[in-house]
Amino acid sequence: MEISTLFVPELIKAAAETIDQNSTEIIGLDQAIGDGDHLFNLQRGFDALKQQDTLIAELDWPEAYKKIGMILMTTMGGASGSLFGTFFVTMGKAAEGQLDLNRKIFSDIFTQSVEAVKKRGKADAGEKTMLDVLIPVSECMRKAVDADMTLSELLENVRQDAEKGMESTHAMLATKGRASFLQEKSIGHIDAGARTTQLIISAVAVFIDRQ
Ligand code: ADP
Ligand code: MG
Repeated sequence: MEISTLFVPELIKAAAETIDQNSTEIIGLDQAIGDGDHLFNLQRGFDALKQQDTLIAELDWPEAYKKIGMILMTTMGGASGSLFGTFFVTMGKAAEGQLDLNRKIFSDIFTQSVEAVKKRGKADAGEKTMLDVLIPVSECMRKAVDADMTLSELLENVRQDAEKGMESTHAMLATKGRASFLQEKSIGHIDAGARTTQLIISAVAVFIDRQ
């Protein structure tokens, strides 16, 4: 099943919906070890994406990804705005010239984009951030492609590893972002950005599996 950019409006809707449905929890997570604005930053980004969703649906994937990244970068604010923005702009650049975004290529460009987020945030796995979801998901996709799994199996593995990654942030000491100011007190809370990244990835995986 080929997912064209014509699905972008529905994908944005599905991702925004899961964030709205979990809004109280997300506010609570960022209030506990951040400044409480993560939900609102994300919602601002989704509102801006929704305003341009039909325009994005007319683009090819490289341009659509870049547009999504630029919109997020300029509207979201917060650390997460520049990091999500970097992720999608890199997806766009890495997808340039790829006529067929098959699983192998998608997995490669996803990995490149996670690397760009690491660089931008000067962060890596184990620092209690969104990267603790993004890194396991990129590794999981690579393994699924190598093992030639069915698309459904791949998507189920992605969902499971995203959830494990999100949960793993609970026990971590934050060494990047606002939560790092709390030092040891950051332990015992799930990172807000890890939770929203997991929710969005799971919603996209469920959406694709239903097509
Ligand atoms: P801010 O921290 O500026 O208030 P948000 O609340 O929108 O921005 O986003 C916070 C989230 O961003 C964190 O929960 C974490 O997942 C992620 N984050 C913060 N700093 C970094 C970093 N240096 N690298 C990767 N992710 C980060
Ligand atoms: Mg915040």
